[in-house]
Amino acid sequence: MGKSIAIMSKRWTNWSGSFTTTPSEIFQPNSEKDIIDIIQKASNEDKVVKAIGSGHSCSLIAAADNGYLLDLQTNYQGIIHFDESTKQLTVKSGTSLQQIAEFALQNDCALDNLGTIVSQSIAGAISTGTHGSGITHGAVDQSILTISIITANGSLKIFDKRTNTEEFNLAVVSLGALGIISTVTIQLVANFNMKITTKNLDFDEMIAHIPKAYTDDYMRFWWAPHTNRVQYWEAHKTLDKADKISNWKFYLNDIFKGNFLHELGLWITSFTPKKIPTLNKLMYKMLLSKENTTVSNFLDAFTLPILVKQKVMEYAIPAEHTEAVLKEIRKVLEQKEHLVHMPIEVRFTPKNEAALSMSHGKKSCYIGIIAYKPFGKDINYDTYFEDIHNIYTKYEGRPHWAKVTYYSKEQLASLYPDWKEFDALKNKLDPKGRFLNDYLKRIF
Ligand SMILES: Cc1cc2nc3c(=O)[nH]c(=O)nc-3n(C[C@H](O)[C@H](O)[C@H](O)COP(=O)(O)OP(=O)(O)OC[C@H]3O[C@@H](n4cnc5c(N)ncnc54)[C@H](O)[C@@H]3O)c2cc1C
Repeated sequence: MGKSIAIMSKRWTNWSGSFTTTPSEIFQPNSEKDIIDIIQKASNEDKVVKAIGSGHSCSLIAAADNGYLLDLQTNYQGIIHFDESTKQLTVKSGTSLQQIAEFALQNDCALDNLGTIVSQSIAGAISTGTHGSGITHGAVDQSILTISIITANGSLKIFDKRTNTEEFNLAVVSLGALGIISTVTIQLVANFNMKITTKNLDFDEMIAHIPKAYTDDYMRFWWAPHTNRVQYWEAHKTLDKADKISNWKFYLNDIFKGNFLHELGLWITSFTPKKIPTLNKLMYKMLLSKENTTVSNFLDAFTLPILVKQKVMEYAIPAEHTEAVLKEIRKVLEQKEHLVHMPIEVRFTPKNEAALSMSHGKKSCYIGIIAYKPFGKDINYDTYFEDIHNIYTKYEGRPHWAKVTYYSKEQLASLYPDWKEFDALKNKLDPKGRFLNDYLKRIF
């Protein structure tokens, strides 16, 4: 194994700065052979091996204390093969969603759905069940056809949705527990633009708009707590031409107001929390209150530049409980003294086939609450998060694997009907727990 792929640093911090891990070595592999050699070396030395993509998870799912950390986005990324006739694209696992989306656009294709950002690696995104919003448009993992995983004994195992659907569904959302994903084949779709309409609602109007989730192509709400205001966002696929967005407008609205001004306000209110409702009112008015219709390409439509570091707790609730959960959250905010950041994000997804997808077997509503870290400053939101967690648990909410949760191992297992089957596959492929860090040991 070439020494050039190991870097000397012994500390690695995730994107949001919410955790730091101290692996005994960090590697930047260039090839499948490098990855196999590192797993072999880890096996000889009885070390845990973890991969990281872009480090956007705020849970400890990628931590590798005293183990080997494989940074795949640096040297193990890029397009391997594209079949124009079938629109099937094979990439190395460290390739970012941004690279994939841009490649799709250049080839007159698109991804069926995306979350709010595209910095994630494809492997990191599917391993944690990353999703967007749209009751008929599944999470990123639902566009995957094949994954190849390098397992604990150094062999390459292929999981193919078309030839062995059952096994594929166990492996596609794997939390990094089955081995190191080497390559991924994605089904792209024909290119499309999106016609987006935004509306400015109050809380009761949001409740009345929930059924729109079932008729809109893509739909979400951004609720600004303490203001009774909600932005409703719906989007439909269109072949209309995309509007031109001037660079200065993008920088003024999305970068300066949406990130810098908001972060400054968050930092100031970290000393004067009673002013958070005023900040939310101001930011809602500035960023979310406009009612308009625009057309953009799929990438710009789905995503936003998110620069302010944050901690998020987001659970998938069976979609039929959306109204009840939102009302309970409002009640907790009214009755307790929590003064909380905006927005509370409400998104919808179809049933998912993957065993460990948060929306496995259930049309779901994802509700995410946020605690920013303005200019890196930690703000203690534990009691707010715990109160909302308690609401989610009443409705069998399943926590996003990449975000904050307070569930125990037993509670988690009871939420997933195929948990035992996943566990059995994990034990078969990795009998010694080579890929189990403390986070995964706690839940398996
Ligand atoms: C600002 C922001 C916005 C976000 N928006 C959304 C959103 O809209 N929707 C949503 O669902 N989530 C969202 N997320 C969560 C994000 O999609 C997940 O954290 C995702 O896992 C990040 O991908 P990553 O490449 O950073 O993975 P990492 O955080 O680096 O890793 C995540 C997991 O994947 C494993 N992994 C990574 N690469 C491999 C590999 N090659 N083989 C095996 N295991 C691997 C890691 O070990 C770890 O267990 C957001 C996060 C942030 C910070």
